[in-house]
Amino acid sequence: MKYDVIIVGAGPGGIFSAYELVKRDPSLKIVVFEAGNPLEKRKCPIDGDKVKSCVKCKPCAIMNGFGGAGAFSDGKYNITNDFGGTLHEYIGKDKALELMKYVDEINVAYGGQDTHMFSTAGSEFKKLCMQNKLTLLDASVRHLGTDINYVVLENMYNELKDKVEFKFLTPVTKLEVIEPGYRAYYGDSFDEADKCIISVGRSGSKWMETVCSDLNIPTMSNRVDIGVRVELPAVIFSHLTDKLYESKIVYRTEKFEDKVRTFCMNPNGIVVNENTNGIVTVNGHSFEDPAKKTENTNFALLVSKHFSEPFKDSNGYGESIARLSNMLGGGVIVQRFGDLERGRRSNWKRIEEGTVRPTLAATPGDLSLVLPKRILDGIIEMVHALDKIAPGTANDDTLLYGVEVKFYNMEVELSENLETNYPGLYVIGDGSGVTHSLSHASASGVYVARKITE
Ligand SMILES: Cc1cc2nc3c(=O)[nH]c(=O)nc-3n(C[C@H](O)[C@H](O)[C@H](O)COP(=O)(O)OP(=O)(O)OC[C@H]3O[C@@H](n4cnc5c(N)ncnc54)[C@H](O)[C@@H]3O)c2cc1C
Repeated sequence: MKYDVIIVGAGPGGIFSAYELVKRDPSLKIVVFEAGNPLEKRKCPIDGDKVKSCVKCKPCAIMNGFGGAGAFSDGKYNITNDFGGTLHEYIGKDKALELMKYVDEINVAYGGQDTHMFSTAGSEFKKLCMQNKLTLLDASVRHLGTDINYVVLENMYNELKDKVEFKFLTPVTKLEVIEPGYRAYYGDSFDEADKCIISVGRSGSKWMETVCSDLNIPTMSNRVDIGVRVELPAVIFSHLTDKLYESKIVYRTEKFEDKVRTFCMNPNGIVVNENTNGIVTVNGHSFEDPAKKTENTNFALLVSKHFSEPFKDSNGYGESIARLSNMLGGGVIVQRFGDLERGRRSNWKRIEEGTVRPTLAATPGDLSLVLPKRILDGIIEMVHALDKIAPGTANDDTLLYGVEVKFYNMEVELSENLETNYPGLYVIGDGSGVTHSLSHASASGVYVARKITE
């Protein structure tokens, strides 16, 4: 078949590019290839009862399918250039913010009308953080929550399904440059189009690497973030989360002057497994529905590792550390902060006697056998720094789940139009290495759609 535009990947990047293309030019013939299932068929078998841990389904219902990696996420759309990607370096700060606000308007129009927008602007916590050697980053955040995020995706799919052709369970295996345009292979078949938008996210990182190497598209090595997910009673952080919902706080360690930051805060949320290419790591989310709220808050503490020549495989480094935890714990390891500081493994008895009830069934263990000393020292320092603005953070019973790894795709060399050295071939979202978040990925989709229709 011949189309005007091929989109590879139906995550936020792919969805928002399809949405904007249709809106700007309804006559366009568009096909979206998606390796995973339609939204309603995305079901992770982990039920905490019969299936307690990841059974490595292919495709993974959490990472693949309509909605991409964000479908069961907490749906936090951060409107900021301070984190979540470097889109502003390509398209300018004002444009990036304008597009993120536009994405927010669409989310609100498609089901998010009753959700909250939080902001750090003018907050008294900036001062409190500064007084304790912490930096609170500026952002506005729309918290859709896992449930409303799902509703928004459902509504957007209903809007698009008759205007765009979706091919689910159809991973594109190879991309070929033809004259003119692009040919996308899937199984023994192929489709062609004048323009192609690749938006394959983190789960498509390996495939993206092969496309870049086959087509000689230059790439740059990137970073990996490694750390733990902290879970504690929600009341300890409630003064922050009630006002800001999510606070991105950065700490510079005294020992190594490394930066440790909070990431993905989930008030009254749950800790969950995440599966990236068969490796089980930890993540978290929370619900807007009061009935689904828990008594705990969780957030990640991450340390970024940037590598220089000759080492290029930053993700490989993160994977090896995650594999270690999988080897020792059969998946994710959980440890009480008090046990970590005392240099002993946690066990179920001590966890059960503690005040924090874990929301994820992980294996009690010893994170010091998994995380490099420098990273672990940074995390311990950060927990004590946070204890000054949220007393109780460094309690013995605070739970640390490991490991949390944020894999970043290698950065694809792109123009200010997010176009490769092949005219009409665009790479957007997390798969490009440019974005690492829902709002930046979605905004990048809108941006290329406008470039194509201009
Ligand atoms: C559990 C979890 C919680 C998160 N919470 C938040 C949050 O609250 N806020 C936030 O900003 N970010 C969050 N994130 C990150 C966010 O989900 C991503 O940044 C965002 O989804 C990136 O969008 P994307 O479209 O670039 O890629 P993705 O969402 O990863 O979508 C890519 C899609 O491409 C498909 N694909 C891959 N390869 C191929 C191929 N060869 N052929 C066809 N299809 C292919 C995949 O199946 C996938 O559906 C979370 C991530 C996870 C996993």
